[in-house]
Amino acid sequence: MTDQGGADTPDQWFPLRQSRTRAILRPVLAGSQALPQTLTGGCRCGATRYTLALDAMPPIYCCHCLDCQSWSGSAFSEQALIREDAITVTGPVVDYRITNASGAESHQWLCGVCHARIYNTNSARPGIAVVRAGTLDASDTVTPRTHIWVKRKQPWVTIADDVPTFAENAPPAEFIAIMMRARA
Ligand SMILES: [Zn+2]
Ligand SMILES: [Zn+2]
Repeated sequence: MTDQGGADTPDQWFPLRQSRTRAILRPVLAGSQALPQTLTGGCRCGATRYTLALDAMPPIYCCHCLDCQSWSGSAFSEQALIREDAITVTGPVVDYRITNASGAESHQWLCGVCHARIYNTNSARPGIAVVRAGTLDASDTVTPRTHIWVKRKQPWVTIADDVPTFAENAPPAEFIAIMMRARA
């Protein structure tokens, strides 16, 4: 995927609008059907809480694009990839909706009190939610599997040599292979 309109940010996380890509993603999304464990997280103020119906901590990645730097107010975003129906939110969550250059509708789900961003969904990738991994109660137990948009990485951020990186978006098949890799 290339820059769109000259912006140094990904129009989307990757082009899941392609049905082939959705087919690639299906095993990831189906991989957490068993529900023996409940994972939890929430916003800064505590008004919004969520549970994830997953059997283990979800795989996470980091994005260093300019959008993610602006959204997070930090050097990069740390995101978990899950099935949308695996997240149950309680509290005053609100939907900040934007339309991307591609025409896809992006929904940013925020705590209505402290405005912490909890997760997002996108009409271009139905059924998938991207959770801000820093909102997980056990966020200290996850390690990013890959970093994307490292051409915009802050120079002081050091990534271990054995962690795959991509200058911009990762090719979807390669990205999914990394995210599906068996947990250590
Ligand atoms: Zn809050
Ligand atoms: Zn990003």
